Amino acid sequence: MFCSKCGAEIANGHKFCNKCGTKVFEEKKHTHHLVTKNLERKNGDSKKVVIVLGIIFILIVALLVTIIIAAMEI
Ligand SMILES: [Zn+2]
Repeated sequence: MFCSKCGAEIANGHKFCNKCGTKVFEEKKHTHHLVTKNLERKNGDSKKVVIVLGIIFILIVALLVTIIIAAMEI
């Protein structure tokens, strides 16, 4: 990216311009965007966790029913 004040090139990851010392703001915007993306990803993961827990719950209930039926037959 380039400095908004003097136009000097600023290497990625640098927070200040090497020529004039102006703070680079583009980095912050980028970070905010990443945080938003991470939050969206977390929401998607929690949905997946609920689905997985539901499947596990159904499997446990099915297993218990099978055990109860087997016990009754004996
Ligand atoms: Zn500059």
